[in-house]
Amino acid sequence: MKHIFLTVLITISLDAACQLPDQTIRDLKAERIKDDTSYIYRLPYPASERHLFVQGANSKFSHRSELAFDFKMKEGSHICAVRNGEVIAIKEDSNQGGLKNEYLNDGNHIIVRHDDGSLAHYWHLKQNGVFVKVGDRVEKGQKIGLSGNTGYSAFAHLHFKLIDKYGNEILPRFQTKKGPRYLRPGKWYKAVTD
Ligand SMILES: [Zn+2]
Repeated sequence: MKHIFLTVLITISLDAACQLPDQTIRDLKAERIKDDTSYIYRLPYPASERHLFVQGANSKFSHRSELAFDFKMKEGSHICAVRNGEVIAIKEDSNQGGLKNEYLNDGNHIIVRHDDGSLAHYWHLKQNGVFVKVGDRVEKGQKIGLSGNTGYSAFAHLHFKLIDKYGNEILPRFQTKKGPRYLRPGKWYKAVTD
């Protein structure tokens, strides 16, 4: 009796699994649908601005094993928060920059802690180019600073990195004109609101 009951249960659940539309089943088989519930970040500059994404996660040039993102941005471009959070660190007194190890600690920056404990790092900002102070709440899309070329940096750009609350680097997806996307180097991305 117990055995029959189990068989019926299994049959019912198999049947339920077959209620998916044919197209969905084809997509799943072709791996076209990926179940992605990760947070969708705003690009780190004002809506309708476009910037070139020059360097991706794990690239060989300067990031090596780091999951960091470089957006080529003329010095003085606005940088916006990618998500709501609280400012936990800033530096804006440096005017030094270049590809020398002695500049490693000279990068002006902002670090924001999001409500899920993750941290966003915005690096190489212009001298006196930080609009927020430690303890400030920032909103997604809010202008928080100006891009620059301070610290270990070859050209004016924003170096952006995300770390989860356990200290692991996160590969984020961003809202783009075509929907949420993982960014590809060498492409221009226009910031859009959600
Ligand atoms: Zn970088």
